Amino acid sequence: MSQRSESPSPTSITAKLKLSLTPEQKTALDRTVLAYREALNYASEMAFQNGKTTNQAKLHQLVYPTLRERYGLPSQMGCSVSRTVTAAYKAQWTKVKQSKTTKQVRRHKGLDHVMRFVSRTLTYVYGRDMTFKMGQRISICTLEGRIVVPYEGYNNHLAWIAAGAKVGESKLYYQKSRKQYYLLVSLGVDCGEARPEQYTQAVGVDVGQRYHLAAANPLGQTLFVSGKQVRQRKDHYARRRRELQQKGTRSAKRRLMALSGRERRFIADANHKSSCQVLKQFSQSMVGIEDLEHIRQKTERRSSAKASTKQKRANRRRSQWSFAELHSFLSYKAPLYGSLLVKVDADYTSQQCPKCGHTTRANRKNGGLLFCCEECAYTLHADLVGARNICMRTLSVWQAWTDTGCLSFAPGVSDVETKAERLLRYSELRWSPDTSPGCAVRSAVGH
Ligand SMILES: [Zn+2]
Repeated sequence: MSQRSESPSPTSITAKLKLSLTPEQKTALDRTVLAYREALNYASEMAFQNGKTTNQAKLHQLVYPTLRERYGLPSQMGCSVSRTVTAAYKAQWTKVKQSKTTKQVRRHKGLDHVMRFVSRTLTYVYGRDMTFKMGQRISICTLEGRIVVPYEGYNNHLAWIAAGAKVGESKLYYQKSRKQYYLLVSLGVDCGEARPEQYTQAVGVDVGQRYHLAAANPLGQTLFVSGKQVRQRKDHYARRRRELQQKGTRSAKRRLMALSGRERRFIADANHKSSCQVLKQFSQSMVGIEDLEHIRQKTERRSSAKASTKQKRANRRRSQWSFAELHSFLSYKAPLYGSLLVKVDADYTSQQCPKCGHTTRANRKNGGLLFCCEECAYTLHADLVGARNICMRTLSVWQAWTDTGCLSFAPGVSDVETKAERLLRYSELRWSPDTSPGCAVRSAVGH
């Protein structure tokens, strides 16, 4: 695998713009979106009949005249249709190939039938059938020509749009429950090429249950985001879900769907907030987080029938907790705060003594709140121990980047030897605020 850093620039973010439509404009957009969906399904049928083709030019030739005549699509939308359909078939072909090579038990059936497009979406191409106008308005194409619509969004996103961020693909999206159209616009925010000198501190972020996250830097500054409220809400959702599943009626199923959407949005919101909180407090940092693939294994013990009710509840909370989402939020937001997210190995971060390096499960009595080292009696809040260990590993990644000029996002599970070497290096890391490794790194980097 390459040792080069995945270039963190430009960062791509998606701005969700709420469109304020007049009733006439909404009707026009409804008609456009429905015609577009029918056009997608027609093109999908044609692609299927023609060997499930992924050739965009070929499909375009086949369907374009009909898209214009029968569905009345403007020319740019006609092009988007064949692009969307061939991309969808390409994705299915990839899955079929994968299922063959990995010898999955179940064959992938995505290509057995014509692919159907059911949701109301529409892709706009910036500069062609969608443009930003003065006064926070947007011009978009409909079957009856262009409409100019005021929009709302997050202040940060609006500022980037005003500053002329690179606009990528835009998707119109209809939220059924609110009868509201949104435009999801992908914005490219250029943050420059990353260099080790541009960061001023390292911070370790430990994600968990008791605390949604705990963060620590070598200067002794910490941040705890409580997980209590989220935990309670999750338990509430789980209870409701159980009740509705037992009922099993059609309306219960409908309400289950709504419930899952609400829960997903609630978690996304919590993840957005806490990731911003960390990045705001520790700006211009190398932000270290544990390698995600190991987190499940690490926290999910006993899942068999032997598990106690308490254990099962803990497992449920863990598995539903979207570590991956939090990670991705941190990752794309970090450059916006002058920071960079790096992954470090998750092994023993909760068991290693930050002061003397002694590593054993017994350092955490009964998996409790308090970390107490068997060797040196160093005592600290358990979640803080995790954050500090991650912070030290982040410093070590930073140091290696400075020394070698290569940023390795480290955790490759396959590479057992280098991992063992890394773990050995980690075991020699010591936490002491006065001779903080942060100072060492900074002086090595510094001027
Ligand atoms: Zn110790």
